[in-house]
Amino acid sequence: MNFYFCNTIICFTFVSRYNQSDFIMNTKYVFVSGGVSSSLGKGIISASLAKLLQARGLRVTIQKFDPYINIDPGTLNPYEHGECYVTEDGAETDLDLGHYERFLGVYTSKANNVTTGKIYRTVIDKEREGAYLGKTVQIIPHITDEIKRRMLLLGKTGRYDVVITELGGTVGDIESLPFIEAVRQLQWELPEEDCITVHLTLVPYLSAAKELKTKPTQHSVRMLQQYGVQPDIIVCRTEHPINLDIKRKVALFCNVRPEAVIESMDASSIYEVPINMHKERLDEIVLRKFNIKNDVEPNLVTWKDFLVKLKNPKHEVDIALVGKYVELQDAYKSILESFIHAGAANECKVYVHSIQSENITDDNVTDYLKNMDGILVAPGFGERGLEGKIKAIHYAREHNVPFFGICLGMQMAVIEFARNVLGMKDAMSTEVLPNTKTPIIDLMEDQKALTVKGGTMRLGAYSCRIAEGTLAYKIYGTTDIMERHRHRYEFNNKYLGVVTDAGMVASGKNPESGLVEIMELPSHPFFIGVQFHPEYKSTVEKPQPIFVAFVKAASIYKDAKKK
Ligand code: GLN
Repeated sequence: MNFYFCNTIICFTFVSRYNQSDFIMNTKYVFVSGGVSSSLGKGIISASLAKLLQARGLRVTIQKFDPYINIDPGTLNPYEHGECYVTEDGAETDLDLGHYERFLGVYTSKANNVTTGKIYRTVIDKEREGAYLGKTVQIIPHITDEIKRRMLLLGKTGRYDVVITELGGTVGDIESLPFIEAVRQLQWELPEEDCITVHLTLVPYLSAAKELKTKPTQHSVRMLQQYGVQPDIIVCRTEHPINLDIKRKVALFCNVRPEAVIESMDASSIYEVPINMHKERLDEIVLRKFNIKNDVEPNLVTWKDFLVKLKNPKHEVDIALVGKYVELQDAYKSILESFIHAGAANECKVYVHSIQSENITDDNVTDYLKNMDGILVAPGFGERGLEGKIKAIHYAREHNVPFFGICLGMQMAVIEFARNVLGMKDAMSTEVLPNTKTPIIDLMEDQKALTVKGGTMRLGAYSCRIAEGTLAYKIYGTTDIMERHRHRYEFNNKYLGVVTDAGMVASGKNPESGLVEIMELPSHPFFIGVQFHPEYKSTVEKPQPIFVAFVKAASIYKDAKKK
């Protein structure tokens, strides 16, 4: 039950169309692999297919299998692998899970992201326990058995009609071979109409020859076939339309039917892709192969409404995103997507200007920020770029520019306030200055004894009680919310008295521990910092309220500036 967002009712209406009808079907499995190049958008194709099937009344989830050996991406620098996404149940996962949730509006969980590290850990732990006594433990069958077990796990819960599995990496990588082998075995073990493989490739356009080239796709599919996997559907990522001749050619060389060769043209927004895939009949082909009779047109009313608003903004705002990983788009993926959702909700185009916080100084802060209608200070870890973040917050506070601080951004907002309003010049977080005399931000009590780094932060959903009459209350319209977390440090409640006496308000707290979740400044038109990560819960059909309010505040600020 708690796997659904507030649109539970919609989800359950959909559910009833299938499971309470006159037949019960097996869970169906779709495996999505990629070839030719990385970054072709397997996550978006998987999420788009899932959206279309969901919009036809099926219960769908998507899982990602990543070939790297880290247990999870929680210990990876965002420069390595983009943002670390956090699920409701506190898993640190690949950022593609963010796309799955943003498209489907259905929570993912720990089980939705599996890495080679997790697979090997399970097998090695079992070996030590003696589960394989007398046997040589090998990739086939022990590793592949564990991969298959996990591939089928969510399907066995009975909660889903279709489980889509995205295989990370590119076909031909050594490290993803066991995953492909597991899919090969499952193709034979599952009933034929319960298992489909989709292969995403690139069809490049050679401008000198003025031609689209199918050879890389042919090679990629051939490699997949060598591993024993015959794709049922080939999705061709392309910058130019693929005509029927090219589809026939791909079909001929790759052993699929021409209608199972799907064109995936570059789109102006990832949220167009479900519509494009429906035009290409991807959902219809999948349903036919699954032998599912489904004549309903996908219900995409809210989705299309969102797209109309997205493409026809009535206003625009400029927002500064102050962070230290700004060179890599993917590092703040969920924040950028939340702005797209919130922008559409406000019929407002949001221009996000990434600012490297390391470069901000007293001399240039005005140049960086004077044309901005809102300032967001991003989450982060460690010392680099911290002082620049504090300077940006100082500017926002003094110039009445709408401000939104997330996690580290909230922590630095309190430090800026302590330093510049309360005169506590050495106010700092013990994350960077363990011996500071003014530890406004301090390590959480239950973190102090921890020595292990992986998966040990305060992770996932915790409740927050909001005080009535505050900005946070106005935004959420309720006193009790749940948001997701990923941090080790917190506001030090020893300073709550002095900070609130000076005009800052702790408008949200964890009801059990008293941990400060939201800080705001009532004397400022819009100044809010949150210890949690609201960006993880924003979806197309349910934009996150703080982002919506922040964009609105930026728009009001801009209008007032003009006047
Ligand atoms: N580094 C800070 C902490 O651990 C903030 C974390 C974050 O921004 N996600 O508390």
